Amino acid sequence: QAETSNYYLTEETACTLLRPRAKFSHKGTHGHALLIMGSYGKMGAALLAARGALRSGAGLVSLHVPKISYNIVQTALPEAMVSLDGHELQFTEVPQLDAYQAIGIGCGLGQGTLTQKALSQLIALADQPLVLDADALNIISTQPDLLKALPSQSILTPHPKEFERLFGPTPNHFKRHELQIRKAREHGVIIVLKGAHTSIALPNGRSYFNSTGNAGMATGGSGDVLAGIITGLLAQGYTPEAAALLGVFLHGLAGDCALQRESEESLIAGDIPDALGLAYQQLR
Ligand code: AMP
Ligand code: MG
Repeated sequence: QAETSNYYLTEETACTLLRPRAKFSHKGTHGHALLIMGSYGKMGAALLAARGALRSGAGLVSLHVPKISYNIVQTALPEAMVSLDGHELQFTEVPQLDAYQAIGIGCGLGQGTLTQKALSQLIALADQPLVLDADALNIISTQPDLLKALPSQSILTPHPKEFERLFGPTPNHFKRHELQIRKAREHGVIIVLKGAHTSIALPNGRSYFNSTGNAGMATGGSGDVLAGIITGLLAQGYTPEAAALLGVFLHGLAGDCALQRESEESLIAGDIPDALGLAYQQLR
């Protein structure tokens, strides 16, 4: 058994990961992210993730949504493109995947039977690593075979409750961290366990603890923004490892930058994508 090593994810590491944006690039250069998110009554999660992906620097962002939300997306987020599902209320149809460099799924998705089927089809069809959050993780918790079928280097972003649903309970945080590392290795995936000090476990046994972020981010929707940022970085050609590490660091740093205008009390999830510009500036 290989040894594990733990690292602190610092500004220095994040700076090394960050790549310059080529002067003569065009939107195609920066990748096309597909976000399969949202369902009737839960479209806010999808929009927040899409704002995260757009502000992260992806060239194009498409939201795959149920029919009912067509006007919501087109009105709330003119920068995003829409891929429309055939179903009125929920995700049921896997779109053509070749056009996308990265796929994020799960925020506000719901867990209906048709959605569960469509998620397993997506997992079977996708060549590119997936970013899985929220209801995508909840569905996988009830169907462990899906975990084994994930494209390698996929990124899972559970909060502690979702982690427990996926991998079972642990008596304390040390055991939970060991389990996180073991599962990342076993399944060849990246597990981002979110919290005040988010930890990132890589398939090679390494793990990182994040150093950015604040309690203002303990508010509905901040996790959705993270899923969008990581998918957006993947679309730009960052490796899954780099996208997970840089994404977590930038997300926390954007939350910290947002405190220039907000307080920990007043911060809301939408402030995080809006402060991503300040976070990128600080890294350069
Ligand atoms: P979720 O529970 O899916 O909305 O995810 C919450 C997000 O906010 C994660 O990225 C957490 O790391 C972050 N977060 C939540 N609480 C805190 C906290 N007290 N300090 C720093 N980050 C936090
Ligand atoms: Mg969440």
